[in-house]
Amino acid sequence: MVAAGAIAVAGAGLLAPAQAAESDRTGPAERRHASPPPKQPTATGYGGAVATVDADATAAGLAVLRRGGTAVDAAVAAAAALGVSEPFSAGIGGGGFFVYYDARSGEVSTLDGRESAPATATEQRFVDPATGTPLAFADARVSGLSVGTPGTLATWAEALERWGRFGLARNLRPAIDLAEDGFVVDETFRSQVEANAAIFADFPATAELYLPGGVPPAVGTVLPNHDLADTYRQIARHGIDVFYEGPIADDIAATVQDPPVRDGATRNVRPGDLTTDDLARYEVIERDPTLVEYRGRQVYGMPPPSSGGSTVGEALNILENYDLGAMDEAQALHHYLEATALAFADRNRYVGDPDVIDVPLDELLSQEFADERTCLLDPGAAAPKPVAPGVPDGDYGDGCTTAPDPAAVPDEGSTTHLTTADRWGNVVAYTLTIEQTGGSGITVPGRGFLLNNELTDFNFTPTQGSAPDPNLPGPDKRPRSSMAPTIVLDEDGDPLLAVGSPGGATIIGTVLQTLVNRIDLGMDLPEAVAAPRLFQPNGVNTSTEGAIASGPLGALLRDEYGHSLATTAEIGAATGIEFLGRHRLQAVAEPVRRGGGSAGVVLPRP
Ligand code: GLU
Repeated sequence: MVAAGAIAVAGAGLLAPAQAAESDRTGPAERRHASPPPKQPTATGYGGAVATVDADATAAGLAVLRRGGTAVDAAVAAAAALGVSEPFSAGIGGGGFFVYYDARSGEVSTLDGRESAPATATEQRFVDPATGTPLAFADARVSGLSVGTPGTLATWAEALERWGRFGLARNLRPAIDLAEDGFVVDETFRSQVEANAAIFADFPATAELYLPGGVPPAVGTVLPNHDLADTYRQIARHGIDVFYEGPIADDIAATVQDPPVRDGATRNVRPGDLTTDDLARYEVIERDPTLVEYRGRQVYGMPPPSSGGSTVGEALNILENYDLGAMDEAQALHHYLEATALAFADRNRYVGDPDVIDVPLDELLSQEFADERTCLLDPGAAAPKPVAPGVPDGDYGDGCTTAPDPAAVPDEGSTTHLTTADRWGNVVAYTLTIEQTGGSGITVPGRGFLLNNELTDFNFTPTQGSAPDPNLPGPDKRPRSSMAPTIVLDEDGDPLLAVGSPGGATIIGTVLQTLVNRIDLGMDLPEAVAAPRLFQPNGVNTSTEGAIASGPLGALLRDEYGHSLATTAEIGAATGIEFLGRHRLQAVAEPVRRGGGSAGVVLPRP
């Protein structure tokens, strides 16, 4: 399916190889059926590795590695393929965060490709002027107001310029072929369309792509996206300016400002204010990674505007005070839950866009602050939630100092995480998203990609009582994220593992729990990823997968520790890579969640 051929550029009078598939356009996509490509959740071997949620994307990344590409080339190739086959989680209409370990220098770098609000955004963005009350989430989501300037394509270009061997055009080839030939619809994809069907039906450009014949495509349908293939070709030929300053920018701004709903739709789709100027001004920002030491390892993560690195980091610093490995499983999970809640209280109070507000990041990540927060953790009982935020002011040690007005702000959504490594030892952990599953639901007509609804990650109204809210909308501001692409180096400074996940705020719990499982609880990475999850974002209830909630562990957490467990079907969809020593790699994806992911290595040696 992902046989990367010559680049499919349609020159004047030339039929590029991939266009041989154009005859497929004459028949409805749903007439063609096929089996999904095979996939495996764990792969061990040498020469480079890729782990994504999707077999085509993993194949795209591996194809690039085999041709001598770096981990960054592979990450871009895989991400571009995900824009085709996982379009409701990722795509050039969205944004993300890219964490990179460079083997030669031993340094970890990050790129902030988060969507930014338009220059005209105000704190009142999601308040209904007629009523003075916040918009319902669904109304805000399916609107032009929620669309931020996409950062994904600029992230790819920046990452490739710094650390790639191939250019964007070459790395887009597998995705162009996939978009032209089509990918095989699986049950996860079909159910995502079904859940969004009423929204997609209101936007003809979206319905045309994802509701062939007016209904969700059946499992096994081969679904091409010729518009996206054309868009990728134009980017391959002209560079990303065609997107940020050229005709695609014009189309994005026009779509946001006048969302193209179908005739007769009753949905009130509010227009947005994103302009071509906003697109032209967009910049990817290099930021220093977050860093905490945990059990002698160095844990690098994504700094604000993501709260991923600071919240995972603070919770690890709290847990550093306990020997989780010596505890029984319920006790260890209780500590994990309480540390997460404490870190979330601080995340909610203090983390937002660091270019707009002051984020006390060094203090949030300091061991001294975590030690002070530790005094609110009762090893034998769950604290009543929400717990209060701390006071990260550098003055610690004289008791449990807390700030007033705790507030819990959980959120959910959809995203994707991919992890790559190459033969030279470079590593990428990259999480990208269009926010909700299906983003805003609005496709740019003729361009083949959905626009994000990332700006609904802002708080709609102040959430922090008498304290300032760090995450209200503002001009050019980037909404706070929970994305937590993470790279861990061992005691010698060599890569140990890289991991990340989708799942809105639950991402922080998934990454944290995976690290605790792997580092403290004696699991290998496949076990750590597969283990049942639970998550406590400083709310009354702890989201808990059924395997824990309805088993003896759940009973202990409820009865012995006082946790209120709310059963949820699935938390997260992690991917990762572990470095096993002597250049041996293990790529890891979910065995079950979201239908299972896809892990691959260049030279398999189980
Ligand atoms: N928009 C969310 C964030 O940036 C991600 C959505 C999701 O992962 O489901 O944290």
